[in-house]
Amino acid sequence: MTDVHSPEGRSFNMSRIRSRDTKPELIVRSLVHQLGFRFRLHRKDLPGKPDLVLPAHRKIIFVHGCFWHMHRCRYGKVVPKTNAEFWQTKRRGNVLRDRANQRMLRKLDWEVLVVWECWTKNINEQLLPALQSFLATVDRCVEFKQEVTEETEESTGMR
Ligand SMILES: [Zn+2]
Repeated sequence: MTDVHSPEGRSFNMSRIRSRDTKPELIVRSLVHQLGFRFRLHRKDLPGKPDLVLPAHRKIIFVHGCFWHMHRCRYGKVVPKTNAEFWQTKRRGNVLRDRANQRMLRKLDWEVLVVWECWTKNINEQLLPALQSFLATVDRCVEFKQEVTEETEESTGMR
C-alpha cells in the first residue's frame, strides 16, 4: 500500500509501537485524527462510554483489550493460571455488556466499530484499513493529503 503517513505521523506511530506501554487507544486516536476526523472521548451519556465518538457522522469506535473482551486471537484466549474461574466470569460479563451496549447504540442509530488491541500491533495491514473502510462510508472521501482542508471543514461542521 502507498505510504499515507506524514513524517510526523510516522515517527509518532513508530515511537508508539516501540514503546513498552503502548496505549492502543492513543494509537487509534492518532490515526483517526490523521484521517481528518474530529471526535469526542468517552461520552458518558452513551451506552458503554464509547472511546471515540464522531458525532457529525454518527459513528462510534470502541478500543477493546483482547484479554478483557475475549477477542478470538491468541491474546484473547489466554487463561490465567490463578483464579481462572473468577477471570472467566469477569471477562464473560464484559462480553455480554459489550454486546448489549452495541445493540443499544445501533438502535440509537449509531454505527459501531470495535478495534481490537492486537490490530494496533499491525497498523498498516490491519488497523488502518479497518478504520479507513469504517470511516469511508461518510458522504465525502477523506485523503491524508487533504488533511488540512478536511480538518478545517470538520471543525466548522461540528459546531
Ligand atoms: Zn486480539
